[in-house]
Amino acid sequence: TDRIQFLRSKLAQYPDFPKKGILFEDIMPIFSDPKSFGILIDLLVELIQKEFKEIDVVVGLEARGFLFGPTLALRLNAGFVPVRKPNKLPGDLATITFKKEYDEDAFAMQKSSIKPGQRVLIVDDILATGGTALAADELILQLNGSLLGHVFLMELGFLEGRKRLKAPTFTLFSGQ
Ligand code: IMP
Repeated sequence: TDRIQFLRSKLAQYPDFPKKGILFEDIMPIFSDPKSFGILIDLLVELIQKEFKEIDVVVGLEARGFLFGPTLALRLNAGFVPVRKPNKLPGDLATITFKKEYDEDAFAMQKSSIKPGQRVLIVDDILATGGTALAADELILQLNGSLLGHVFLMELGFLEGRKRLKAPTFTLFSGQ
């Protein structure tokens, strides 16, 4: 649609960042412009309301999942919970290590942040190999959340990351 094309025109590509051979998609120009940011949230809400019912918690992945996860959660009348890198969250934690497109990483969630059976939607900016989102899936399952699915702005389709994930996956921009 026109709105998707408009948002796409805001994305910027940076070759060889953060490493040689990676074509980095920069989504920040969407957030620096209020019109684009508004359209982004409207489109995500429409997509999510079409595909999912009764979301209790939107889980955003550090760091770019924090840019739009809370706004989305508020619009969906859901809570927001962060998945964070190690040594950031206090208290009793669920943790997991995983391999990313270009490095190794670990994630943590506060055990009390998801109640057993709560209906959880995971959001992040980009799905690449799926390692990051799979780690988040496993954390939600460790906490006995009901994992509804994932929504990304964009996916690097040739990496087939969605095949590794444990729940349905939707992206705003298709065919990358
Ligand atoms: P994956 O674990 O290989 O699926 O990589 C996804 C993670 O890496 C997400 O947290 C993304 O934010 C980040 N990522 C991968 N490629 C890009 C990119 O081109 N631009 C911005 N972030 C990226």
